Amino acid sequence: MSQDDADVIVVGGGPGGAATAFHLAHHGAKVLVLEKSEYPREKVCGDGLTPRGVKQVIAMGVDVNAKGWWRNRGLRVIGGGVRLELDWPDLASFPNYGLTRTRMDFDELLVQAATDAGAELHTSTTATGPVTDDRTGRVVGVEATVGPDKQPRVYRAPIVVAADGVSGRFPLALGVTKRDDRPIGVAVRRYYRSPRHDDDYLESWLELRGRNDQSKLLPGYGWIFGMGDGRVNVGLGVLNSSVEFGKSNYREMLVDWMAATPPDWQMSEETADGPILGAALPMGFNRVPHYTRGVMLVGDSGGMVNPFNGEGIAYAMESGALAAEVAVQALAEPDLARRERALQHYPAELKARYGGYYRLGGWFVKLIGRPEIMRFATKHGMPHPTLMRFVLKLLANLTDPRGGDAMDRVINAMSRAVPAV
Ligand SMILES: Cc1cc2nc3c(=O)[nH]c(=O)nc-3n(C[C@H](O)[C@H](O)[C@H](O)COP(=O)(O)OP(=O)(O)OC[C@H]3O[C@@H](n4cnc5c(N)ncnc54)[C@H](O)[C@@H]3O)c2cc1C
Repeated sequence: MSQDDADVIVVGGGPGGAATAFHLAHHGAKVLVLEKSEYPREKVCGDGLTPRGVKQVIAMGVDVNAKGWWRNRGLRVIGGGVRLELDWPDLASFPNYGLTRTRMDFDELLVQAATDAGAELHTSTTATGPVTDDRTGRVVGVEATVGPDKQPRVYRAPIVVAADGVSGRFPLALGVTKRDDRPIGVAVRRYYRSPRHDDDYLESWLELRGRNDQSKLLPGYGWIFGMGDGRVNVGLGVLNSSVEFGKSNYREMLVDWMAATPPDWQMSEETADGPILGAALPMGFNRVPHYTRGVMLVGDSGGMVNPFNGEGIAYAMESGALAAEVAVQALAEPDLARRERALQHYPAELKARYGGYYRLGGWFVKLIGRPEIMRFATKHGMPHPTLMRFVLKLLANLTDPRGGDAMDRVINAMSRAVPAV
């Protein structure tokens, strides 16, 4: 008789953990999600979903026509004196719209879908470290503390998924650390009550200027996303390829940028809804390996944010779905050696799917970290809508793998041609 509490334990109930749990439960596995907080809870994010993210939400059976979702048609890019509206591409593989929804209840909805599918959820339960088998060296469970009194508890399962976000304490406890040679960003965001709340484009700013010195560019890139609920989500981010990374006061920069926006947008201290909060975006596989000793890393825990555009939700959910698929196959194997073999498919498949594209993304981050290159690209690229449509497809990773147009074929060929990260 097995002493296990589940077939798979998922540490963390964000989008990555929820998607993993949903797909595992759907495949008939017994899955237990350990989440340190209680829902609803805040998560610092831009709250924006491209069609890539929308596809994953739909794959979990969530009704995106219900109240609380706000649709967008594409991306508005502002820079080099040009304001360009680019609709999401028309593809067979992805919907042609994006969504916004505050993470305050987005994550809860996804976790609810997972529990509806049969996953068990333990909130106020913090994973404190792995339980390892002395004989095999494999992880066979999770040590945790439960509730406000931090009651210690041990949960056992033959496979553990670390979906614990950018801090990645669980992989860290196994010695899987961040790689300093891979991209990372830091971003801050704040909500404002603004008439721009019903914007049907996600807005991306390639150049930021403050109120006091309009001639000087602030470091980083900004966004204004309408939430459709009376608020906008406004934020800015700086990449580690910039000399300003870690040196600037990002909160002050956000306030300065907002002070320079038109008064009728009503983005000021008076309309601010909550504080400015910040967090890191771990990009381009900046924590590897994605599988070790019975543990699979999903989403931010494995540094899976897209380096081209800072999108992390879609990749957390896609990697969660893949981890679930691999885990059920591994669980069906008759012995440990075969199970191990099956689990190795997870990092190999991640590498095949994203490795080339993330290599290109790493180069992109290095290039745009140099202000003179960014200025040149903005000045000469923005006036050409066809080129910008290509850039949108590349940056948002939105192509059809088969039967796409010439742009799709170029992007897919480029991703295949370079060595995977
Ligand atoms: C400012 C900012 C703006 C962003 N904007 C966007 C955007 O617009 N669109 C987009 O797609 N992405 C965006 N991202 C990235 C996105 O937020 C992440 O990529 C995404 O949340 C990753 O999901 P995840 O499930 O891997 O991790 P998380 O969402 O971080 O979830 C991790 C979960 O694990 C729990 N947890 C952590 N440690 C433990 C533990 N020890 N025990 C139990 N539970 C634990 C946490 O409470 C949390 O619920 C942004 C990020 C930042 C910082």
